Amino acid sequence: MARKKKNLIFENIEIIDTAAKGKAVGKTPDGRVVFVSNVVPGDVVDVQTFRKRKSYYEGKAIRFEKYSDKRAEPECEHFGVCGGCKWQNMKYKEQLFFKQKEVTNNLLRIGHLDLPEITPILGCKKIYFYRNKMEFSFSDSRWLTPEEIESNKDIDSRFACGFHIPKMWDKILDIEKCFLQEDPSNDIRNSIRDFAVKNNISFYNPRHQHGMLRTLMIRTSSTGEIMVVVQFFEEDIEKREALLQFIAEKFPEITSLQYIINNKGNDTIYDQEVILFKGRDHIFEEMEGLQFKINAKSFYQTNSEQAHELYKIARDFAGLTGDELVYDLYTGTGTIAQFIAKKAKKVVGVESVPEAISDAKENATRNNMDNVEFFVGDLAKVFTEEFILKNGKPDVIITDPPRDGMHKNVVDQIMNIAPEKVVYVSCNSATQARDLALMKEAYTIEKTQSVDMFPQTHHVENVVLLKKKEGFKSKLT
Ligand code: SAH
Repeated sequence: MARKKKNLIFENIEIIDTAAKGKAVGKTPDGRVVFVSNVVPGDVVDVQTFRKRKSYYEGKAIRFEKYSDKRAEPECEHFGVCGGCKWQNMKYKEQLFFKQKEVTNNLLRIGHLDLPEITPILGCKKIYFYRNKMEFSFSDSRWLTPEEIESNKDIDSRFACGFHIPKMWDKILDIEKCFLQEDPSNDIRNSIRDFAVKNNISFYNPRHQHGMLRTLMIRTSSTGEIMVVVQFFEEDIEKREALLQFIAEKFPEITSLQYIINNKGNDTIYDQEVILFKGRDHIFEEMEGLQFKINAKSFYQTNSEQAHELYKIARDFAGLTGDELVYDLYTGTGTIAQFIAKKAKKVVGVESVPEAISDAKENATRNNMDNVEFFVGDLAKVFTEEFILKNGKPDVIITDPPRDGMHKNVVDQIMNIAPEKVVYVSCNSATQARDLALMKEAYTIEKTQSVDMFPQTHHVENVVLLKKKEGFKSKLT
């Protein structure tokens, strides 16, 4: 006979810290810890567990004995259901404290690194409406809240445009107002949804794979330009034209209105043709007079204002005088490379996505830069001795890898080159700590500066300046 799983209840659990994925954690009397969502350090709660592992439980708070003074009132009516901004219930100052703490802990516990004095984390001026890009999904099977189901009222519409419910691939939470992107983002999304409902334009059904409206991307920029990309699953020329015409007329401020017809299984747009309906096929972002062209598929840091702050820190850490050859590894569309180019003799950017590199080159030409060069390739493979021989031995390396951190080959090659300075920009301090541990023999950490790019979430960036130890020699001549 199968053993029945027991859900335990622990009373009076004090939440003592934040944990991975936006959760928080408390200790249980049996010596384990319990991870709980939607609670804040300092809360005291009764927890009902729903999962048990060797050293931990996962549970949910079923009663609050005490509310933490670190709490804040969430702005958003969708908080707690939407997976987007899990820390909205925490004061911003406390969010920053826990972000900083995570970075320091990772550097110390994973990397066992010697750290200089830690400078305070740089917070955002704007703690809401800071994103320049949002992606919403349409669905004909809207997520119903337990209250809605219990109310026994007639559910008038199952159509939704919003975000996936965490761990429910086919359920979409309908969003009325999202606090992450400035106006007219909310108005555009809601108007499209309402027009579609009124005019019998069908919404995608992910389970049975039918329906017209699939996803919506809205990009805004510091120049005031707006891009809207509607992705359809099924094509119906008349209905599609009617919808796009409606958007164009209602929002004449849209710079770029485009669409995609994608009837394959997944909704990623990267292998799809993006068709222009009105305006141009790109918008511009601007930073210190530099222009960056952004099309539907381009990567650009999603918090433009704070990206500027992050880049200033990287540039400051690099301490360039104008004579240096700099490598910008994982350059994306070459934004850091171009941002620092005026202060360097030459910058070489490397990135694996070919489209990003063509954007980088185009932007460099637009910005009249003749001292930047870009190469496509997987760094683990192309960052070879030949590459360095051909392009020169860098004096400074800036590296900004994805969440997985750097490939071991890349770390090894940086050690072989042994530039005077390495600036490591990271969106995951755990992998940053791992990589830095491999470089201990050659480098000391001069500076470490955390930067918050994503208020109301647990994400945090960290920039580290490494200085070569005296006596450590380059293996390349
Ligand atoms: N520095 C850029 C982008 C950083 S995001 C900016 O600030 O905008 C990390 C980048 O690394 C992405 O553009 C991603 O495409 C690229 N990348 C991921 N794995 C890579 C690899 N193995 N080799 C080269 N580039 C890679």
